[in-house]
Amino acid sequence: MTNSEENHIKAIFHLSEEGIKIASTNEIAKRMNTRPSSVTDMIKKLSKKGLVNHKKYKGTFLTTKGKKRALQIVRKHRLWETFMVEKLKFNWDEVHEIAEQLEHINSEKLINKLDEFLGFPKVDPHGDTIPKRDGSYEKQEKIRLSELPIGNVGVCVGLGDSSTAFFRFLDKYKIALGSTIKVLSKEEFDKSMDISISGKSFHISHQIAYNLYINIKH
Ligand SMILES: [Zn+2]
Repeated sequence: MTNSEENHIKAIFHLSEEGIKIASTNEIAKRMNTRPSSVTDMIKKLSKKGLVNHKKYKGTFLTTKGKKRALQIVRKHRLWETFMVEKLKFNWDEVHEIAEQLEHINSEKLINKLDEFLGFPKVDPHGDTIPKRDGSYEKQEKIRLSELPIGNVGVCVGLGDSSTAFFRFLDKYKIALGSTIKVLSKEEFDKSMDISISGKSFHISHQIAYNLYINIKH
Protein backbone atom coordinates (compact mmCIF):
# COMPACT_ATOMS: atom_id res chain seq x y z
CA MET A 1 0.00 0.00 0.00
CA THR A 2 1.26 3.50 -0.79
CA ASN A 3 1.25 6.28 1.79
CA SER A 4 -1.50 8.02 -0.11
CA GLU A 5 -3.68 4.90 -0.10
CA GLU A 6 -3.13 4.56 3.64
CA ASN A 7 -3.99 8.21 4.21
CA HIS A 8 -7.27 7.85 2.35
CA ILE A 9 -8.21 4.78 4.38
CA LYS A 10 -7.39 6.68 7.54
CA ALA A 11 -9.42 9.72 6.48
CA ILE A 12 -12.49 7.54 5.83
CA PHE A 13 -11.99 5.90 9.22
CA HIS A 14 -11.81 9.26 11.03
CA LEU A 15 -14.93 10.50 9.24
CA SER A 16 -16.84 7.41 10.37
CA GLU A 17 -15.59 7.98 13.93
CA GLU A 18 -17.07 11.46 13.70
CA GLY A 19 -20.43 9.99 12.74
CA ILE A 20 -20.19 10.15 8.94
CA LYS A 21 -20.82 6.48 8.25
CA ILE A 22 -20.87 6.86 4.47
CA ALA A 23 -18.51 9.60 3.34
CA SER A 24 -19.04 11.57 0.16
CA THR A 25 -16.12 12.16 -2.18
CA ASN A 26 -16.23 15.85 -1.26
CA GLU A 27 -16.04 15.11 2.45
CA ILE A 28 -13.01 12.87 1.94
CA ALA A 29 -11.36 15.44 -0.34
CA LYS A 30 -11.92 18.20 2.22
CA ARG A 31 -10.47 16.07 4.99
CA MET A 32 -7.41 15.23 2.85
CA ASN A 33 -6.94 18.71 1.47
CA THR A 34 -7.07 17.44 -2.06
CA ARG A 35 -9.30 17.57 -5.17
CA PRO A 36 -12.43 15.38 -5.40
CA SER A 37 -11.22 14.01 -8.75
CA SER A 38 -8.11 12.52 -7.19
CA VAL A 39 -10.22 11.01 -4.40
CA THR A 40 -12.44 9.39 -7.03
CA ASP A 41 -9.39 7.75 -8.64
CA MET A 42 -8.16 6.55 -5.29
CA ILE A 43 -11.54 5.10 -4.30
CA LYS A 44 -11.49 3.01 -7.49
CA LYS A 45 -8.08 1.62 -6.57
CA LEU A 46 -9.03 0.92 -2.96
CA SER A 47 -12.26 -0.70 -3.97
CA LYS A 48 -10.41 -3.06 -6.34
CA LYS A 49 -8.26 -4.06 -3.38
CA GLY A 50 -11.37 -4.80 -1.32
CA LEU A 51 -10.66 -2.08 1.22
CA VAL A 52 -13.63 0.21 0.59
CA ASN A 53 -17.16 -0.10 -0.65
CA HIS A 54 -18.47 2.63 -2.90
CA LYS A 55 -22.18 3.18 -3.41
CA LYS A 56 -23.06 5.40 -6.33
CA TYR A 57 -24.58 8.78 -5.31
CA LYS A 58 -24.19 7.81 -1.64
CA GLY A 59 -20.56 7.55 -0.79
CA THR A 60 -17.78 5.36 0.51
CA PHE A 61 -17.23 3.28 3.61
CA LEU A 62 -14.55 0.86 4.73
CA THR A 63 -14.94 -2.89 4.34
CA THR A 64 -13.99 -5.09 7.31
CA LYS A 65 -10.59 -5.53 5.69
CA GLY A 66 -10.27 -1.77 5.18
CA LYS A 67 -11.22 -1.00 8.77
CA LYS A 68 -8.65 -3.48 10.04
CA ARG A 69 -6.04 -1.72 7.93
CA ALA A 70 -7.11 1.72 9.19
CA LEU A 71 -6.88 0.58 12.81
CA GLN A 72 -3.31 -0.61 12.23
CA ILE A 73 -2.33 2.81 10.88
CA VAL A 74 -4.07 4.61 13.74
CA ARG A 75 -2.38 2.25 16.21
CA LYS A 76 1.06 3.11 14.82
CA HIS A 77 0.29 6.82 14.75
CA ARG A 78 -0.84 6.93 18.39
CA LEU A 79 1.94 4.71 19.71
CA TRP A 80 4.58 6.87 18.02
CA GLU A 81 2.99 10.00 19.48
CA THR A 82 3.04 8.43 22.93
CA PHE A 83 6.68 7.44 22.48
CA MET A 84 7.72 10.94 21.43
CA VAL A 85 5.95 12.67 24.32
CA GLU A 86 6.74 10.17 27.07
CA LYS A 87 10.23 9.05 26.16
CA LEU A 88 11.68 11.75 23.93
CA LYS A 89 10.02 14.62 25.84
CA PHE A 90 8.52 16.28 22.81
CA ASN A 91 5.68 18.74 23.43
CA TRP A 92 2.13 17.56 22.71
CA ASP A 93 1.83 19.96 19.82
CA GLU A 94 4.99 18.80 18.05
CA VAL A 95 4.29 15.13 17.58
CA HIS A 96 1.37 14.89 15.17
CA GLU A 97 3.23 15.93 12.02
CA ILE A 98 6.08 13.51 12.71
CA ALA A 99 3.67 10.67 13.52
CA GLU A 100 2.04 11.27 10.16
CA GLN A 101 5.30 10.01 8.64
CA LEU A 102 6.11 7.29 11.17
CA GLU A 103 2.68 5.69 10.82
CA HIS A 104 3.66 4.42 7.37
CA ILE A 105 6.59 2.28 8.52
CA ASN A 106 5.55 -1.29 7.93
CA SER A 107 6.99 -3.53 10.57
CA GLU A 108 4.60 -5.35 12.85
CA LYS A 109 7.53 -6.44 14.97
CA LEU A 110 8.70 -2.85 15.48
CA ILE A 111 5.29 -1.59 16.50
CA ASN A 112 4.57 -4.50 18.83
CA LYS A 113 7.96 -3.98 20.50
CA LEU A 114 7.22 -0.27 20.83
CA ASP A 115 3.83 -1.07 22.39
CA GLU A 116 5.51 -3.38 24.91
CA PHE A 117 8.28 -0.85 25.61
CA LEU A 118 5.65 1.77 26.45
CA GLY A 119 3.82 -0.65 28.77
CA PHE A 120 0.81 -1.20 26.48
CA PRO A 121 -0.71 2.29 26.90
CA LYS A 122 -4.48 2.56 26.44
CA VAL A 123 -4.57 6.19 25.29
CA ASP A 124 -2.19 8.53 23.48
CA PRO A 125 -1.07 11.98 24.75
CA HIS A 126 -4.14 13.56 23.19
CA GLY A 127 -6.44 11.18 25.06
CA ASP A 128 -7.36 9.11 22.01
CA THR A 129 -7.72 5.34 22.37
CA ILE A 130 -4.86 3.24 20.98
CA PRO A 131 -6.10 0.17 19.07
CA LYS A 132 -4.65 -3.05 20.48
CA ARG A 133 -2.46 -5.52 18.65
CA ASP A 134 -5.43 -7.75 17.73
CA GLY A 135 -7.24 -4.74 16.29
CA SER A 136 -9.70 -4.37 19.16
CA TYR A 137 -10.60 -0.80 19.85
CA GLU A 138 -12.83 0.67 22.49
CA LYS A 139 -14.17 4.02 21.52
CA GLN A 140 -14.16 6.35 24.49
CA GLU A 141 -17.38 7.87 25.69
CA LYS A 142 -16.51 11.49 26.05
CA ILE A 143 -18.32 14.82 26.13
CA ARG A 144 -17.11 18.39 26.02
CA LEU A 145 -16.56 20.07 29.38
CA SER A 146 -18.97 22.78 28.20
CA GLU A 147 -21.75 20.15 28.25
CA LEU A 148 -21.04 18.94 31.78
CA PRO A 149 -23.82 20.06 34.17
CA ILE A 150 -23.12 22.19 37.23
CA GLY A 151 -22.02 20.14 40.23
CA ASN A 152 -20.75 17.25 38.10
CA VAL A 153 -17.23 15.91 38.10
CA GLY A 154 -15.29 14.52 35.14
CA VAL A 155 -11.81 13.50 34.14
CA CYS A 156 -10.06 15.26 31.26
CA VAL A 157 -9.49 12.61 28.59
CA GLY A 158 -8.86 14.57 25.43
CA LEU A 159 -8.27 17.90 23.75
CA GLY A 160 -10.18 19.43 20.91
CA ASP A 161 -7.48 21.91 19.95
CA SER A 162 -3.82 21.25 19.32
CA SER A 163 -2.50 24.79 19.01
CA THR A 164 0.53 25.91 20.97
CA ALA A 165 -1.51 28.72 22.52
CA PHE A 166 -3.98 26.21 23.92
CA PHE A 167 -1.22 24.02 25.37
CA ARG A 168 0.32 27.09 27.01
CA PHE A 169 -3.00 27.92 28.62
CA LEU A 170 -3.35 24.36 29.93
CA ASP A 171 0.19 24.39 31.32
CA LYS A 172 -0.42 27.70 33.04
CA TYR A 173 -3.47 26.39 34.89
CA LYS A 174 -2.03 22.90 35.35
CA ILE A 175 -4.80 21.27 33.39
CA ALA A 176 -3.67 17.96 31.90
CA LEU A 177 -5.03 14.63 30.78
CA GLY A 178 -6.20 12.84 33.87
CA SER A 179 -7.10 16.05 35.74
CA THR A 180 -10.32 15.77 37.73
CA ILE A 181 -12.51 18.76 37.00
CA LYS A 182 -15.65 19.90 38.82
CA VAL A 183 -18.07 22.41 37.36
CA LEU A 184 -18.96 24.95 40.05
CA SER A 185 -21.11 27.40 38.12
CA LYS A 186 -21.90 28.60 34.61
CA GLU A 187 -22.62 32.03 33.18
CA GLU A 188 -25.81 32.05 31.18
CA PHE A 189 -24.63 34.97 29.05
CA ASP A 190 -21.34 33.74 27.56
CA LYS A 191 -21.33 30.13 28.81
CA SER A 192 -18.03 30.69 30.61
CA MET A 193 -17.71 28.68 33.82
CA ASP A 194 -16.10 28.35 37.23
CA ILE A 195 -14.34 25.05 37.67
CA SER A 196 -12.16 23.51 40.33
CA ILE A 197 -9.14 21.28 39.88
CA SER A 198 -7.43 19.73 42.89
CA GLY A 199 -8.94 22.24 45.28
CA LYS A 200 -8.15 25.36 43.21
CA SER A 201 -10.98 27.12 41.48
CA PHE A 202 -10.86 29.47 38.52
CA HIS A 203 -12.90 30.88 35.68
CA ILE A 204 -12.57 29.60 32.11
CA SER A 205 -14.07 30.80 28.83
CA HIS A 206 -16.56 28.80 26.80
CA GLN A 207 -13.89 28.24 24.17
CA ILE A 208 -11.64 26.51 26.68
CA ALA A 209 -14.47 24.38 28.07
CA TYR A 210 -15.52 23.46 24.55
CA ASN A 211 -12.05 22.15 23.74
CA LEU A 212 -11.66 19.89 26.77
CA TYR A 213 -13.07 16.39 26.50
CA ILE A 214 -14.36 14.82 29.66
CA ASN A 215 -15.19 11.33 30.80
CA ILE A 216 -18.02 11.66 33.32
CA LYS A 217 -17.41 10.15 36.73
CA HIS A 218 -20.36 8.14 38.00
ZN1 LIG B 1 -1.74 12.77 15.76
